[in-house]
Amino acid sequence: MNGTETIGALLCEAGAAFRAAGIEEARVEARLLLGHVLGRKPLALPLEAHRAVSAADAARFRALVARRAAREPSAHLTGTRGFWTLDLAVTPDVLIPRPDTETIVACALDHVRDRCAVHRVLDLGTGSGAILLALLSELPRAYGVGLDRSAAALAVARRNAEACGVAARAGFVRGNWARAIAGGFDIVVSNPPYIDQATIATLEPEVARHEPRGALDGGEDGLDAYRAILPDLRRLLAPGGIAVLELGFGQAESVAALAREAGLVGVELRQDLGGVPRAFALRPA
Ligand code: GLN
Repeated sequence: MNGTETIGALLCEAGAAFRAAGIEEARVEARLLLGHVLGRKPLALPLEAHRAVSAADAARFRALVARRAAREPSAHLTGTRGFWTLDLAVTPDVLIPRPDTETIVACALDHVRDRCAVHRVLDLGTGSGAILLALLSELPRAYGVGLDRSAAALAVARRNAEACGVAARAGFVRGNWARAIAGGFDIVVSNPPYIDQATIATLEPEVARHEPRGALDGGEDGLDAYRAILPDLRRLLAPGGIAVLELGFGQAESVAALAREAGLVGVELRQDLGGVPRAFALRPA
């Protein structure tokens, strides 16, 4: 090596390593990590391909590239993931927020008549706090509770609430779904674990090896969490309140049947950007 590393050469090197590792979007991922190391916007990097990078930064970058090539999720390497308008801290204790889950936020907000009114929000299985914090960021007088069975996840969610400036309106509770929670909520949201047993075995290494199994595993048919949550929703919702649940691929009919048994009716089934029915809005029948 001649001693001068450039942004362009490092991006090429990482892109090749990622392609060899079977990672899609190799260039995008390379830019994301180099942007993280250099403290610059990833999209600006290709315009500065000839710029020199210090040996220390190049070494830090290569260490992260090696971890990413071994299929560690990029959110664990940078420690953050963008969700809605927020930058959320992410650790291996929480599910990495997915763009699909923004469908839940959008759907819930569209069912709110007056965004400036007081709304009480409950997020079951809050993880990083993604859905709850996105809603609190859009509803300036809302307050909410994020529930999770993982104390480590709740610590991440609390940190995110602070960073998003909504900590004064957010409380976090450890619990087994809503068993110990009283009612009165205007909005109940959840992205529960919904992966079925057969699909669990097919997950990408990033997910299978690095994300919390408890946030993914929905039992044999993937519906265990819905069976636990749905019977409590009528009790949890205030008059006029709405619940919006995330669904896994192909689960709309089964969850609709369970919802009917629990005395609820579907009011909207909204697709994600990939055309998959993803957000299921429900009210008491
Ligand atoms: N959407 C996640 C995945 O496909 C699953 C999240 C969940 O189980 N709620 O990996």
